[in-house]
Amino acid sequence: HPSEAKPSLTVLLAGPRGFCAGVDRAIRIVEEALRLHGAPVYVRHEIVHNRYVVESLERQGAVFVEELDEIPDDGRPVVFSAHGVPKSVPAEAARRRLFYLDATCPLVGKVHREAERHFAAGRHILLIGHAGHPEVIGTMGQLPPGAVTLVEDAAQARRLRAPEGRPLAYITQTTLSVDDTAEIVAALRTRFPSIAGPAKEDICYATTNRQAAVKAIAPRCDLLVVVGAPNSSNSLRLREVAERAGCPRAILVQRGAELDPAVAEGCATVGVTAGASAPEALVEEVLARLRTRFDLCVEEVVVREERVAFKLPAALTEADPAAP
Ligand code: SF4
Repeated sequence: HPSEAKPSLTVLLAGPRGFCAGVDRAIRIVEEALRLHGAPVYVRHEIVHNRYVVESLERQGAVFVEELDEIPDDGRPVVFSAHGVPKSVPAEAARRRLFYLDATCPLVGKVHREAERHFAAGRHILLIGHAGHPEVIGTMGQLPPGAVTLVEDAAQARRLRAPEGRPLAYITQTTLSVDDTAEIVAALRTRFPSIAGPAKEDICYATTNRQAAVKAIAPRCDLLVVVGAPNSSNSLRLREVAERAGCPRAILVQRGAELDPAVAEGCATVGVTAGASAPEALVEEVLARLRTRFDLCVEEVVVREERVAFKLPAALTEADPAAP
């Protein structure tokens, strides 16, 4: 009805948003394994924390399991998720002679090697991260039990009891809040001035850029919508960053259907971003949902260009005569 004009709404799209190079690579590994070896291809843990991605790979023949003991010894490939795995997992796969492909993001792998380097130098390691997250389980599992102590927040950093007489080092999860981590690192440095740490930091470029993009638009927004899963660490951080940067309300939705467009009633400007594991198609769904009620004026605010891309494992490219 042209006479019933919809109210207008400005949408600020945060850039960069959505898929990072590690997620893109992990999904391509599963797709390439399916293309080269046919179905089923087993995947240990959600390849990335997004139901939409998982379901679309399932339709192509991927079978998701939580542990290797759920996989039969039938010679089918198994892919380890982007979050990384404890050393015991590839060891068990090798013992069972499984054909495995490691989709651990190279930036997570870099933290694993840092941990090993500190351990070899005799340091006790403090890992800044969230208990129970698969990346934290994978990173702690690079070293023997007791070699790594998890530090979850600044309060823990302040009361932490480090082993006596051992030099210390810290490493971090890749998807943390940049600001919270700076506070935790400052607390550690105050208490342990000689603690070793990464030259820059372990928070990855994608996490850093997505948070910077949200900070740039949040003060202009009445509401910010983060497209992402409730178990996606970097998506949860984006919601926090938005609220701390002055946006009165930030919500997390997994896809368009979960968004009640009425939440934007009375808003002049709504921000939209997506976690590193959320495909752009889901951002499109959210915009389509908002269009059912509003006349959208969409403006993209790009704070940084990204050109990071990671190669596939040699086991996939060398096996394939058609590979570039
Ligand atoms: Fe890799 Fe960062 Fe993406 Fe995690 S969020 S998969 S560390 S690029």
